[in-house]
Amino acid sequence: MPKQAPHQLPFPTKGKTEQEIKQIQQEARKNDARWQDGRTFSLVFYAGPDVARVSQEAYLAFYQENGLNLSAFPSIRKFETEVVSMSASLLNGDNEVVGNMMSGGTESIICVVKTAVNKAKKEKPGIKPEIIAPASVHPAFDKACNYFDVKLIHVPVREDDKRADVEAMEKAINENTIMLIGSAPAYPHGVVDPIEELGRLAQQHHLLLHVDACVGGYMLPFVERLGYKVPPFDFRVPGVTSMSMDVHKYGYATKGTSVLLYRNAEIRRHQYFVYLDWTGGIYASPSVTGTRPGGTFASAWAVMNYLGEEGYLRIAKEVMDATEKVKQKVATMDGIYIMANPHMSVLALASDKHDIFRIGDELNIRGWHLDKQQHPNTLHMTISYGNVQAIDQFLLDLEASMAEVRKFHIGELGDKVAVGLVKGLSAILPEKQMSKLTQAAAKMGGTGVPKRSAAMYGMMGALPNEGDVKDLVISILEGMNSLEPKEE
Ligand SMILES: *Cc1c(COP(=O)(O)O)cnc(C)c1O
Repeated sequence: MPKQAPHQLPFPTKGKTEQEIKQIQQEARKNDARWQDGRTFSLVFYAGPDVARVSQEAYLAFYQENGLNLSAFPSIRKFETEVVSMSASLLNGDNEVVGNMMSGGTESIICVVKTAVNKAKKEKPGIKPEIIAPASVHPAFDKACNYFDVKLIHVPVREDDKRADVEAMEKAINENTIMLIGSAPAYPHGVVDPIEELGRLAQQHHLLLHVDACVGGYMLPFVERLGYKVPPFDFRVPGVTSMSMDVHKYGYATKGTSVLLYRNAEIRRHQYFVYLDWTGGIYASPSVTGTRPGGTFASAWAVMNYLGEEGYLRIAKEVMDATEKVKQKVATMDGIYIMANPHMSVLALASDKHDIFRIGDELNIRGWHLDKQQHPNTLHMTISYGNVQAIDQFLLDLEASMAEVRKFHIGELGDKVAVGLVKGLSAILPEKQMSKLTQAAAKMGGTGVPKRSAAMYGMMGALPNEGDVKDLVISILEGMNSLEPKEE
């Protein structure tokens, strides 16, 4: 158990002034990731002050409206249907393509899994639904399958190019299979799966095929128009039955915006939830959430109309130029390389000489935030417009970080000892005491992200069974969800 605060925070008896509220909140953000300087390579997508203003003003203007009941708010209905329709055009959908706005990629994915399960239950009653996906697929699918008790089969990607292994996926198909997944691109290495081959496979076996374009949906079409080679990934490909694309990523709208599209309305009918017998009346909803904040629809509509193809192309060009700079510079550096051959501005840095996580820690110390990935270990970069201004400085700091890890480090020795200790202990300690140790390690992770976390990852890798690692991760989450201890 993470340490509980000695008592709960009392519910405020008296209200604070607006001024006090502002001051406390400003203080609270002092250690937040510095996305404004372009030093955060995920989590925040920033397209400049004008786009932010358009998005924020639209959000605030529809702050109170609720997309749960579109007959009460024709404005929200207009924004949702138009955003969906414009997005369908962008992905080359014909007039049959329909869709909804969702609160994010995860909700889009939960809904498409729900749709597939409900469709299968109706058409093939008695089956135990299975979905087949490349191992690189986003964990939102694992989450969705966990929620709906669906078996998700992860098929390893091809060793050389990290794209889906379609032959191996075909071997995994059986009478319970309901859907195949491909990504455009997959988040870990930024490569687009062979969607055309997956489309043929889906058609041969009469399966649904979802293309997860959550990160690429509002970027790949423009990258393609700029002249880069992008494998076919959208509704032009026969066999693609649905697609997800996040407006809150490269669409540059407020967080809480994604679009889920279906090839036709017939498939989408399985997505709706309707309950007729409630004492509160007939309840119908297209998505997971009930209340849907009006501001999200207004922001997505506003940003898309403000930028238009012209604006998105201009932004995509700058982002791709910055990505090319990174690719070219890294190619000249010793001991670091870019994994596989990324199709847009999402990529993974790897090293065959050094612990790449230590390079990540050095970058972290220099104020950069790159996520750590595993199997194999890499550092992740989602380059978006906000990073363009900082990319030259990033490359300088990357060089400095490389120089640092080439030196011998007493700190590293400590890390190595810690990892070795865990490995050694796990061989001799009874299980119960091993669990205690993982809990102690979780406290080390504590309430903040440690500056040097390569050691933490090393320890997690050294834990002998998956149950212990899961417990450790849950303990860290619990820590994050509890009050921050007062500074001494
Ligand atoms: C971000 C992402 C998701 C999940 O989207 P959220 O908005 O974080 O819920 C799913 N798939 C891919 C490829 C993504 O990049």
